[in-house]
Amino acid sequence: MTATMNALPPLAEPRVESRAYRQLIAGEWVAADDGRSFDDFDPYTGELFARIPASGAADAQRAIDAAERAFASWAAMGARARQAIFLNTASILERRADEVVLLMAQETGCAAPFARFQIQWAVGLLRQAAGYPYLPGGEIVASDTPGVFAMAVRKPVGVVCGISPWNGSLALGFRTVVAPLACGNTVVLKPSEDAPVCAGLLMGEIFHEAGLPPGVLNVVTHAPGEVGPVADRLFESPNVRAYNFTGSSATGAMLAERAGRHLKRIALELGGYNPMLVLADADLDDAVDTAVFAAFFHQGQICMNTRKILVHRSLYDAFIQRFAARAEAIRAADPADPATRIGPLINDAAVAKVQRAVDAAVAGGARRLTGGAPRGRCFDPTVLVEVPADAPIHCEEVFGPVVLVEPFDDEQEAVSRANATAYGLSASIMTADVWRGISLGGQVHAGMVNVNGPTMGGEPQIPFGGVKDSGWARFGRWAIDMFTDLNLVTVSQARRQYPL
Ligand code: NAD
Repeated sequence: MTATMNALPPLAEPRVESRAYRQLIAGEWVAADDGRSFDDFDPYTGELFARIPASGAADAQRAIDAAERAFASWAAMGARARQAIFLNTASILERRADEVVLLMAQETGCAAPFARFQIQWAVGLLRQAAGYPYLPGGEIVASDTPGVFAMAVRKPVGVVCGISPWNGSLALGFRTVVAPLACGNTVVLKPSEDAPVCAGLLMGEIFHEAGLPPGVLNVVTHAPGEVGPVADRLFESPNVRAYNFTGSSATGAMLAERAGRHLKRIALELGGYNPMLVLADADLDDAVDTAVFAAFFHQGQICMNTRKILVHRSLYDAFIQRFAARAEAIRAADPADPATRIGPLINDAAVAKVQRAVDAAVAGGARRLTGGAPRGRCFDPTVLVEVPADAPIHCEEVFGPVVLVEPFDDEQEAVSRANATAYGLSASIMTADVWRGISLGGQVHAGMVNVNGPTMGGEPQIPFGGVKDSGWARFGRWAIDMFTDLNLVTVSQARRQYPL
């Protein structure tokens, strides 16, 4: 254990033993081409969690080649056989649930409530995607030319590169690969260096055990600070036809430019700065419950966490008093203990970033109602009020358990303030007047608006996604549009007449 961890309570048992992993290329578990590996640490204890292959360009190329070779037969495989693989994968994940909860705790600091949510979500995603092979593969299009029969046919695009983040590691690792695979593509998955197991190698292990043919899913891992050569190969290769990226807006913008240079498509699911509006007629208890969950679940490290709460002035004093008391009662602790509700932040850099943002706001005049200082990598829920408009945290995503609360007098003013951010992922409006909520919700720049529900949530079948700097991808069945090409096929049933 590191020195900074000494203030933390004793560890819960059991924990999984640290293990040396290999990566998955062409159906084989292999070391990095040059034999290098890196250490993946438990964010709570600071101890070694796993040894991971530290790959480079040669590994990425082998994975692309394997995916390219596997494509034709996977795309042609019958619907029943493909469906069986997705159903098997879901069952294996369910069977391994207890072990996977511990892996997420130890690799990413994810406490049991969010880990169990992710497993149940991913199982649902897999079972729903098992139906994709049976969905209509296109439609008949009317032709102006007599005797011409025209079909718009959906076809897989080929090799898709998936890039996953560490935060909702299991759910997002699966989301990165499931729709592309279910549409008949083959995939090279490059997980985050902060969660190479839970956002990558686990997907490989479980799909492999479920009978996915060799090369259909390949997983390539790299060490922190060494994404360059792997990314270069994945973006420069003409054989990679599309990208499925979930991560920060800064990385997404850079990768969109890279993909655009080669005229390749990229699905983007990016950051968020999600507002919650509490109108004058809202149920205060419900608003406080919803805000506590939405702001602090997974210690504020979810793209959909509420970052700013705008409360009608008539409820403001009562709201901040109850909300701060509830926040104060939640303590970050050992994520491997089933009783823990929120765990540590992912790494020291994340702790420092959250601390800097809180300090800057307080230095500018903000008042801290609770929280605000780390113990090791644990950061307790932090509530700020009177945050100055020029503090970065006023409109920028700080990925941690920090939320701002502000009063408002006029609903239109609240909507303008909710929109005063470059992001547009999710929003929530608490009100007794549902139609008012729907109407105001339509004015908030967000891909997802929840009336009397949290900004934080999601089910596999919804059109999940944002607007503005939060990206443009849509999941659920809408993902089929992103990971297939629509091809026109015409058949002339009689000899045609031409003007030349
Ligand atoms: P990140 O952008 O740092 O990393 C995401 C992925 O991109 C990782 O796999 C990383 O290795 C990779 N990456 C980084 N630089 C790269 C490069 N130059 N070339 C190729 N790949 C590169 O984001 P993160 O810290 O892992 O995730 C947190 C962010 O993701 C937050 O902003 C959060 O809001 C966002 N997020 C969005 C959603 C969503 O669905 N909208 C879901 C989860 C997380």
